[in-house]
Amino acid sequence: MAEHAVVVVGGGPTGLMLAGELALAGVDVAIVERRAAPDPDRALAGGLHARTIEVLDQRGIADWFLAAGKAMQIQGFGRIPLDISDFPSRHNYGLALPQIQTERLLATWVEELGVPTMREREVTGFTQDDAGVDVALSDGTSLRAEYLVGCDGGRSVIRKAAGIEFVGWEASTSWLMAEVEMVEKPKFGLRPGGGIGPSEGGDRIRLTLTEREVEHTGEPTLQDVREALIASDGTDYGVHSLSWTSRFTDNTRQAVSYRKGRILLAGDAAHVHPPLGGQGLNTGVQDAMNLGWKLAQVVKKTSPQSLLDTYHGERHPVGARVLKNTMAQVALTSPGDRHQVLRDTMAEVLSMDEPRKWFAGMMSGLGIHYDLGEGHPLLGRRMPDLDLVTAGGPLRMFTLLHHARPVLLNLGEPGSLDITPWAARVQSIDARYAGDWELPVLGRVAAPAAVLVRPDGYVAWVGDGSDNGLSEALTTWFGSPTAS
Ligand SMILES: Cc1cc2nc3c(=O)[nH]c(=O)nc-3n(C[C@H](O)[C@H](O)[C@H](O)COP(=O)(O)OP(=O)(O)OC[C@H]3O[C@@H](n4cnc5c(N)ncnc54)[C@H](O)[C@@H]3O)c2cc1C
Repeated sequence: MAEHAVVVVGGGPTGLMLAGELALAGVDVAIVERRAAPDPDRALAGGLHARTIEVLDQRGIADWFLAAGKAMQIQGFGRIPLDISDFPSRHNYGLALPQIQTERLLATWVEELGVPTMREREVTGFTQDDAGVDVALSDGTSLRAEYLVGCDGGRSVIRKAAGIEFVGWEASTSWLMAEVEMVEKPKFGLRPGGGIGPSEGGDRIRLTLTEREVEHTGEPTLQDVREALIASDGTDYGVHSLSWTSRFTDNTRQAVSYRKGRILLAGDAAHVHPPLGGQGLNTGVQDAMNLGWKLAQVVKKTSPQSLLDTYHGERHPVGARVLKNTMAQVALTSPGDRHQVLRDTMAEVLSMDEPRKWFAGMMSGLGIHYDLGEGHPLLGRRMPDLDLVTAGGPLRMFTLLHHARPVLLNLGEPGSLDITPWAARVQSIDARYAGDWELPVLGRVAAPAAVLVRPDGYVAWVGDGSDNGLSEALTTWFGSPTAS
């Protein structure tokens, strides 16, 4: 039986990101993926939000994505645009990039990192014991792993087999998506609950429209498309030549726990919601970023298993908030005059600076705040990508994170912070930074004397000129001083 430290089930965006993170940390990880290759017919996510671009920048691969997509202001709430060009980030925009491209680029990264992907095989079940997990595959073989991570999408076999409840709201609305041709040219643009526009190549027409019925058993037919067009526009425009269809609903659910023993869940396996605001893929990639380094440290035995509980503790509230905001957006974009009044009111609110910043921080991911206790506003927030000056010359903060290793950044008296017991695990850098400290949503904050930055780019400790609390923070996040 083949053995790996970690088996990741599902090579979608979440599974790929997680496998890359584990490989960077030197963990033996393998992916099992049902599909033969990333599927161009999966017309899903249309882009990346600012925080996801930052996360990729922290690994030195954002340029691949930026070169393949189109940077633009994509964020919005219930279709009300939210401009983030005044946010203090190198990436104060979103990126229009089809999911297939994101998956291909992540797959290239993972391949370069040497992660084996077992394709055209499914995980059918598992049994876990005190020391590991036996993973059964559809070809009759099995794998042994210390940990198994279900990144296997909304219908997750892993979540179901682990008996983790998936609680939330039944679907109240169904949308159909289709690529078609039409005899008459429709007016391109948004409709309440959907929209009609040119396909990617521009030669065909793509539409997303709400349906009368919520329950369906199969894929939409041409007749379903006709009916949805008549209900929306009063005509079917002579629609014909249906080449592709799909359906999604506002089924909104979240796993009650992201971990059960040696089984973990990430991405759509842990949370599903309607695609309003384009957050699913982004949330999954950031789940992976949060889990990867923690799982790596537990596998390497430098940190106790309890570190994994902070994954649920930090990411479950983020997922819950995404669920809540997508449900609110479904209500906001529902057809009808009464909802139009709600939309107009919300647009008025979001035209004011403070609400715009708060909502834009939520939708772009730049406002994420993990509750790491009281203290400096940086604590639990993303570390800005500062232009530092070091003895070796100028250096971007994110460059220090390329290898997914924690950083103690000392901006005070050089050599004043001694972390010798953690020296093999944590990079210690003396640097100077002359600019302002400004965070998205919060604005300017007091300059810290030092910061301890986790591999996922979140601040775990803020120094006030002394080393107060530093050993505790290092032990909490990177293991005891004596761990090898
Ligand atoms: C219409 C639509 C538009 C969307 N737009 C956006 C958007 O703009 N922005 C955004 O962020 N998100 C968007 N999303 C959501 C986004 O597509 C998902 O959140 C994202 O695909 C989740 O990634 P994942 O890797 O967690 O799961 P998935 O992409 O579902 O990947 C799971 C993988 O696991 C594999 N798998 C499943 N079961 C097994 C098994 N038993 N064994 C082996 N392999 C298995 C599958 O083949 C698949 O490759 C949209 C979704 C829809 C439906």
